[in-house]
Amino acid sequence: MFVSTDVDVIVIGGGPVGTTALALLGRAGHTAIGLEKDREMWPTARAVHFDGETMRTLQGLAVADRFIGVTIPMKHVDIVNEADEVLVHAPTDRLGDQAWNDHISFHQPDIEGLVREIVETSPGVELRCGVTATRVESTDTGVEVTTLDEDGTERTLRARWAIAADGARSEVRRALGIETDKYGEDAQWLVVDGQLVDAPGYETDMIQFARYSRPALWLRLPGSRVRMEFMLVPGDDPDEIVTPAAVERISRGILPADKFTPDRQAMYTFRGRIARQWRKGNVFLAGDAAHQAPPLFGQGLCAGIRDVENLAWKMDLVARGIADDSLLDTYESERKPHATFWVETAANQAVGIQTLDPRVAEGRDAFMRAHPEASAVPTSPPLGPGFHEGDERAGRLSIQPILADGTRLDDMVGHHFLVVADRSIYSELPAGIKAALVEDGDTVTLLDPLKIDQILDATKAKAVVVRPDHYILGAGDTAADLERLVRQIPSIAHAATLTVDTH
Ligand SMILES: Cc1cc2nc3c(=O)[nH]c(=O)nc-3n(C[C@H](O)[C@H](O)[C@H](O)COP(=O)(O)OP(=O)(O)OC[C@H]3O[C@@H](n4cnc5c(N)ncnc54)[C@H](O)[C@@H]3O)c2cc1C
Repeated sequence: MFVSTDVDVIVIGGGPVGTTALALLGRAGHTAIGLEKDREMWPTARAVHFDGETMRTLQGLAVADRFIGVTIPMKHVDIVNEADEVLVHAPTDRLGDQAWNDHISFHQPDIEGLVREIVETSPGVELRCGVTATRVESTDTGVEVTTLDEDGTERTLRARWAIAADGARSEVRRALGIETDKYGEDAQWLVVDGQLVDAPGYETDMIQFARYSRPALWLRLPGSRVRMEFMLVPGDDPDEIVTPAAVERISRGILPADKFTPDRQAMYTFRGRIARQWRKGNVFLAGDAAHQAPPLFGQGLCAGIRDVENLAWKMDLVARGIADDSLLDTYESERKPHATFWVETAANQAVGIQTLDPRVAEGRDAFMRAHPEASAVPTSPPLGPGFHEGDERAGRLSIQPILADGTRLDDMVGHHFLVVADRSIYSELPAGIKAALVEDGDTVTLLDPLKIDQILDATKAKAVVVRPDHYILGAGDTAADLERLVRQIPSIAHAATLTVDTH
């Protein structure tokens, strides 16, 4: 056991983002306490989809098979109009460049339950449920967090940093005086989850219904579970719209009252928001506390997982004295533009999908027919400025090759910096740099073409350095490029070997 008032990180909020932060910090050997005000995990879902990048992060928690066991790949995504004409049809059933399916469906409690299990078995980290954070203060040396247990006991916990993953209504964000910027228009939606038995539903896994009479969404989830979402329109009676008869009506008969058993029906305001500041002193906002996207591309949770994946390895290096605290400033500079891209893109898509005006819908339909690719799921952007350098190859998510024996490369590399290089380039490196690469416990160097050619080809480079979060630190074409990049790996820059003799 560790002393509870002296941990590296306090994580406020035990939702999917907070618990993933705990799991990542535990894997890196750090101590952390998570605070969750609710005693029990939410038994119902909000997120139902994640992408291959998120699955890659979960893979890194070492129980990929268990995560995959509770998910299904999403085979097709369609956008359909009022007249049920398919405007966009995107087949999505393929392994993407992250070595997992690009689109994966799941029941959120299954995934959250697995992450909690990992936290429970990780030494050094714990999630305290039924404990509310009531005050967070950033001090010169760290943070102080006051907590309130269910029995009324108050405590003060101290840590080096706090991650506020306390959701869209984040009290921590409010208390720190951080405002949010609004993207797009807010809209009220009814979300219905449940089991559909002895009824066909739709064959397509995900359909966005761009119906001007009532925009809607259909999703097939593992087992007999399905999700439908319906935008509320003028004239809806909030009490009537949730009745089984109303759900049957607004689903156009797809969820018959006698075949569909809902396990919850909830109204949500779909909104786009970005917090203006993501770091204040030693407190970092993450997940919905930092950004909220209308869930059209199913990216809200994915963005939150990217946040903590970005933060965890940086906190690890700073905590070990290998990197300066300023590395943590790159969290906001890298992640905020990336998350903003997704919030803005989803908010723009929502304008088109959510119109209730038949004439506007007609123009939108014509555009989608002519440019289906422009309405499909966009490609994820590079990070904003931060800890990566060079041309446009840097700051992008690296691919994950699957080796001839079926091994996914991350399972071989672990959570380290990865240096991949053409042998001819590597052989020209100064002896001291090669020695540093061999000795450095934070870096894995791979030269075998069978393992690395896909990365070099995809990056169009002869040498690539990849960060522990799988984003590219930099790419180059010469030994000088590679040497420059290797010198930036914090553990190597920090090591005494480089200061003695690099030639
Ligand atoms: C209808 C809907 C569908 C969605 N679909 C998708 C999707 O398909 N894919 C996707 O990627 N995203 C989706 N999203 C978004 C996704 O659900 C969220 O981005 C994600 O759940 C945010 O997780 P979080 O951990 O940041 O916040 P939350 O899940 O809100 O967790 C915050 C936690 O903090 C706790 N807390 C709050 N204050 C305190 C305090 N003071 N002390 C202690 N604990 C506290 C809360 O109890 C809560 O458990 C969807 C959202 C909605 C509404």
